[in-house]
Amino acid sequence: MDNSQQTSFFSRHGHLPFIWGEGRIAGYLSATLGICAFLGVLCFKYPAWLTTAEFREALYSFEFARNLLWLGIVVAFICGIVSFAICEQKKLSVTGIAASLLAVGLGAFTVTDQPVGVAPVSFGLDWFILAFIFSMLIFIPLEKAFAQKELNILRPEWRTDMTYFVVAHLLIQFFLLFTNAVHVYVLGWAQSETVTEIARSMPVWAQFIACVFIADFFQALTHRWYHEIPWLWKFHAVHHSSEHLDWLAGSRTHLVEAALTRTAVIVPLYLIGFSEVALNAYVVLVGVQAVFVHANVNWRFGWLSYVIVTPRYHHWHHSDDPAYANTNYAVHLPLIDMLMGTFKLPKEAWPESYGVFSAPVPKGFWQQFLYPFK
Ligand SMILES: [Zn+2]
Ligand SMILES: [Zn+2]
Repeated sequence: MDNSQQTSFFSRHGHLPFIWGEGRIAGYLSATLGICAFLGVLCFKYPAWLTTAEFREALYSFEFARNLLWLGIVVAFICGIVSFAICEQKKLSVTGIAASLLAVGLGAFTVTDQPVGVAPVSFGLDWFILAFIFSMLIFIPLEKAFAQKELNILRPEWRTDMTYFVVAHLLIQFFLLFTNAVHVYVLGWAQSETVTEIARSMPVWAQFIACVFIADFFQALTHRWYHEIPWLWKFHAVHHSSEHLDWLAGSRTHLVEAALTRTAVIVPLYLIGFSEVALNAYVVLVGVQAVFVHANVNWRFGWLSYVIVTPRYHHWHHSDDPAYANTNYAVHLPLIDMLMGTFKLPKEAWPESYGVFSAPVPKGFWQQFLYPFK
């Protein structure tokens, strides 16, 4: 290869926005992964305080978390160097390189699998890091490649929605404790061994479908109450106040609503007593679908959009067109809305714009937290 060919190779790739983005994409990746690696090392150092017992047992192994940490550090460092070399803005690459070096300094390459003690409270920093990295890596490229509306990754109010994402994941243990307390102490009397026996006699795939149907039924019912009962609407209006829908927008849910809805959905499944495999499969589905239905992707799905809830379906639920005000409550199965008489989906179209048509909701996490109590 002669010199002229080399120059043209680098200059061509240097100007492909999706690959290098003038070094900005590498910079963002470096800063994000570097900060996640730094937080990840803290999880290894203080697991009782910063990680979730349920997830350590069921979601990931020590080896997986450690390998992910190492990979994150290496990628953050390499992307940081690349960005530093070709991007005019050095802040991102310097952040990424510094954070990954700090992670190494804190002992990222010498972490060991120690028994985890007990702490008076624990935060789901592990859950935040895993959910954030995987959501970001899956949904940002998808939204760039298949955008329905033109929208920057750092669109207006992204900081507010990021705060919701961080807080909801850090507080996972409190949500789990609340749901368990309602299950055991408030509704424990409703548990029936006969019902559990019948449920568990079904094949796992049938249990899974039953889980999805029952969960979505209770979700849609509570969702409808949030829309129709004025004092409940003030909590839910926060979720509808997003004017730009993307994968991150779905995180904007008032903490009271998040705790109550999760409990209303999960406790019936606990009471019926479905097998752990069916329950876990449902939890994975709801985690992915709740993010996906808010995503800014233009996929139409044809007849499938009458079978499962798609982004277009849920985007109509967020429309600021009063004709769609109280429709499309389901998050998994349109069938639930068809049964409740709240199904409404135009053939191909997408809503023009999103938001609330009631009193305006204030902006910012804390203002929105206090809003329903005023
Ligand atoms: Zn709603
Ligand atoms: Zn939504």
